[in-house]
Amino acid sequence: MKKMNPAPPSGSVNPPLHPREEERIARLLGYDILDTGPDVIFDRLTQMAAAVTGSPISLISLVDRNRQWVKSRYGCDLRESPRDDAFCAHTILDAEKMLIVPDSLKDPRFEHNPFVSGEPHIRFYAGIPLHNGDGLPIGSFCIIDRKPRELTAEQIASLKDLARIAMDYMEVHRSNRDLTRLLQREKEVYTRLLKMSSEMASSSHTFEGALKSVLDHLDPNLGWLSCRMSNLLSHGGSVIRMNPLLPTDLLIDELWREIDEQGRRLPSDTPKTEFISAGAMRPEYAYLFVPVRLRGRSLATIEMIYPDHRRMDSRVREVFDLMAVNLAVVAERELVNADLQYRAHHDALTGAVNRILFLDELIKAISEADPLHPDSVLLFLDLDGFKEVNDNFGHQTGDRLLVEVTERLQGLCREKDVLGRLSGDEFVLLIRDLGVSDDLEPLLKRIQRSLSQPFMLGDLEIRIGTSIGVAILDRRDLSTPELLRRSEEAMYLVKNGERKGYCIADEAIIREFKTRLDLDHKIHEAFFQRKLMLHFQPIVDLRNGDLCSAEALLRVLDKDGKVLNASDFISSLERIRLMPDVDEWVFAEAIRLLRLHIAVFAAIPDFRISLNISPAILSTHGYASLSLSRLKSAGISPTMLRLEIIENHLDTTNLSLLENINLFRGAGVKIAIDDFGTGYSNLQHLTSIPCDTIKIDRMFLKGIPTEEIKTKELLAAMMNLGRNLGYSIIAEGIENQAQADHLLSLGCYYGQGYLYGKPMPMEEFVAYARKHSPHVLLLSAPADSPKQHLEPAHS
Ligand code: C2E
Ligand code: MG
Ligand code: MG
Repeated sequence: MKKMNPAPPSGSVNPPLHPREEERIARLLGYDILDTGPDVIFDRLTQMAAAVTGSPISLISLVDRNRQWVKSRYGCDLRESPRDDAFCAHTILDAEKMLIVPDSLKDPRFEHNPFVSGEPHIRFYAGIPLHNGDGLPIGSFCIIDRKPRELTAEQIASLKDLARIAMDYMEVHRSNRDLTRLLQREKEVYTRLLKMSSEMASSSHTFEGALKSVLDHLDPNLGWLSCRMSNLLSHGGSVIRMNPLLPTDLLIDELWREIDEQGRRLPSDTPKTEFISAGAMRPEYAYLFVPVRLRGRSLATIEMIYPDHRRMDSRVREVFDLMAVNLAVVAERELVNADLQYRAHHDALTGAVNRILFLDELIKAISEADPLHPDSVLLFLDLDGFKEVNDNFGHQTGDRLLVEVTERLQGLCREKDVLGRLSGDEFVLLIRDLGVSDDLEPLLKRIQRSLSQPFMLGDLEIRIGTSIGVAILDRRDLSTPELLRRSEEAMYLVKNGERKGYCIADEAIIREFKTRLDLDHKIHEAFFQRKLMLHFQPIVDLRNGDLCSAEALLRVLDKDGKVLNASDFISSLERIRLMPDVDEWVFAEAIRLLRLHIAVFAAIPDFRISLNISPAILSTHGYASLSLSRLKSAGISPTMLRLEIIENHLDTTNLSLLENINLFRGAGVKIAIDDFGTGYSNLQHLTSIPCDTIKIDRMFLKGIPTEEIKTKELLAAMMNLGRNLGYSIIAEGIENQAQADHLLSLGCYYGQGYLYGKPMPMEEFVAYARKHSPHVLLLSAPADSPKQHLEPAHS
């Protein structure tokens, strides 16, 4: 609380102003000390001054524009007074000299001063100007006595010392206050920086953007001189920034260079924010290094040069470490996103692009296709022998092979090419900017050469081949499925052996594909509309023409009511992967029809229905037991069934296939090898197949009746072979009597062919049986024979 003394009687001689009064006032205000509270240090100093000089009163008085304000007092209660009355206002006029008034009543400047005539009745005054050497005293340190006197030289010296201490303390006070303000301001800046960085972590910045915004928010008030940042994720660096609030150091670029070149720069795996000296060029500067790290990985660095060491405060480091953590959060999110993106678009095993991304790329490439000068192609690659590698050496080896194949293919790709893996061992390659007429074939050969080199997988040396189909991107209205289909079908032509190595889908091939596609559609539709039926072809005793058994052959009724033969569409069923469903249907339908006419067929001794069966379903685990239980529940004996398997589909190493065959045979089902003579035809193979019957392919009858010695000899040899192994033999495709006679002469007694009867619907076949089997002839004909239905027994 300010306490004003009662106004002293006026009569002072107004002290003149200081020659640099405005500067002096500015200096005083700069200390920000006026009107502040008591300070024990100053009070101690005034007390000491009174003691060493033996004076009753001592003051530290500051001379303001219109008043003197007393910071510390001893021996009186003076708080402030008008400047005109202040002795100290005179003291400050000469910074270099102390003012001594031995007797105020004898001094014209003070004789009428109210402090002389009134309290505290000053008779003696000695004041030391308070200044910091700049000639601008802000006040005075004085002692006062109520009687005239003198000071000894020691007392004067002591007083000067105390005044100097007071002034030094005043300086400390100022810089403390400056520091407090600075810290306060820095605190706000750091708080802002932290706030920004935590907001940044929760908003959806990119890492690069987040780094940039950190740099933008590195407030110049933080006191750094220069800063820079490098993004180790993108290998990007930022330009060096200078603090606009500080004078530019002309050596700054050189300083950064020195930091880099002389290895002063801290390694990016430094775990936390570090301060070190900036180096010999500017030893007083500090270099701040902020690493941004995530799980042991360095993501970025932020570096700053400070023009002093003061900020090597641990709290500052904590702020930057927190900021780095926030940046790492952003990076983590970005990395996780990128990882998810990558996973969503790449095959986990090989890292090749997956179907989704590949199709996207393909769409783009198609939209850029140049019909006049096509320069992009789609390659469909399928490894030959991959299944064997998997089967023989296990899936792990298969997987490693796929990885190595991917690496080799990647090695042949350029940046703009895209390698994708669609499934299993199917790869697709989109090649852009290619001279189709000049460069394509050499490229295909290179790929083949590369993949035909052995693969070393541990101790294993594996060799595989590759079938490549190529489709050219020569139109912009091509659909991706169409393009993929072209390349895949071209690949199949290689797989089937129709082409060697690779096949480029040209006009003719594409036309053929189109025909196939139409057929596939037709068959697909027919299957789902249940327009399937079974026809039955008689198998007869060649010696007398009596019906012995029958072969069920699949037929499709097309849209125009035409009946299509199996040879027209079996490959289509395989392409559209409906074969297993069709096999199921055939089995159920055959049982249904057998049941329907069981009285007729049961009358024929050892009558069997032959069903053609695809290898896929016969290799399905549990197929035999399921089929046998179906027969059982339908009340049909397994001895009424024969299953025909095409010779070259018989894989004697396939365990589930053998298991099914054995189960069937054990139950009384006979197994026939179909189209015998068109497959391996080697004795070794034959002996290892568990079968009962061989069906000689009709191609061996083609040479008869013309004298084709070679075929005849082959036929005879096969007949012998089969008989010696104990197989029963059925000849297929007997069209004329000469063929039948020839077969009889070779000891072949059973056969089928147009000579005896074409495949026919069930009701016709029942009529046929009545006519051609003496056993059925004995049965009485039913009043109304049931019609064959197109609907299956079990759908
Ligand atoms: P495949 O089992 O060898 O059947 C004999 C084929 O020869 C039948 O053709 C039949 O119509 C035909 N054929 C019979 N006698 C003669 C003849 O004297 N001269 C001539 N030129 N041909 C004759 P289709 O019905 O077109 O069947 C072709 C192949 O389709 C069959 O050959 C069989 O492998 C397969 N197939 C037929 N039906 C089915 C079925 O239901 N399931 C399965 N998986 N395959 C079937
Ligand atoms: Mg057959
Ligand atoms: Mg056949």
